[in-house]
Amino acid sequence: MLTVEDLHVAYGGVQAVRGISLEVRTGEVAALLGANGAGKSSTLLAIVGSVKPAGGRVTFEGQDITGQPPEVLIRKGIAMIPEGARVFARQPVEQNLRLGAYILRDEAVYRQRLQRVYKLFPRLLERREQLAGTMSGGERQMLAIGRALMSGPRLLLIDEPSLGLSPILIEQVFDALVALNRQDGLAVLLVEQNMAQALEVAARAYVMQSGRIAIEGTAADLAASDEVRRAYLGM
Ligand code: ATP
Repeated sequence: MLTVEDLHVAYGGVQAVRGISLEVRTGEVAALLGANGAGKSSTLLAIVGSVKPAGGRVTFEGQDITGQPPEVLIRKGIAMIPEGARVFARQPVEQNLRLGAYILRDEAVYRQRLQRVYKLFPRLLERREQLAGTMSGGERQMLAIGRALMSGPRLLLIDEPSLGLSPILIEQVFDALVALNRQDGLAVLLVEQNMAQALEVAARAYVMQSGRIAIEGTAADLAASDEVRRAYLGM
């Protein structure tokens, strides 16, 4: 579905991504893992054209989308949630969701999607009139996911949804991603530092180190690998 070939990202003299190749297959959850500063966010930003890649190619369903801006990708069915779950703080929850559906003209489809989001995150329904800026970190992450879903994506790219959340909230957010994947067929590229939990929800994973893919494989193989357990899972 999504392929990334030999992607490079540089910030001035700093080579943040040094030739990454990866894919997300139709209907799967893939994970891009690695420590702080490994280059995960830069990879994601380059995939969605927020950062101009210094080299390489990105395709979505066979079409070259390298360097295309986020607005174009949204219309093709790709949604991205950047790190920190940014929401429109001064707008109520439901208005945030409405803004996520700005490409949509069909009121009935809008209602359907809204119902789906509220079913997934009942908390958002309870708080639909609350200003987004006053929501807790976990609620904001749910809202960011909900808003992304309102554009009707087939592929969701999400950067560190677990950041700053308690274990129980991390589980809720990851459960929602699994439900969207299994029930709605949404493909997900999950970028995470929290490797142990990401490996529980992903089918396959890539581990980045210093701008390169150090290890890749099925999540089961990675979770069972002595090297991964020692170097990354602290076991
Ligand atoms: P984290 O999990 O901490 O977000 P990451 O794996 O997502 O880390 P990146 O944010 O992609 O890593 O950063 C990769 C490298 O690029 C780091 O050395 C970082 O300091 C550098 N970098 C990222 N953004 C910029 C920028 N806008 N200007 C200069 N250097 C940057």
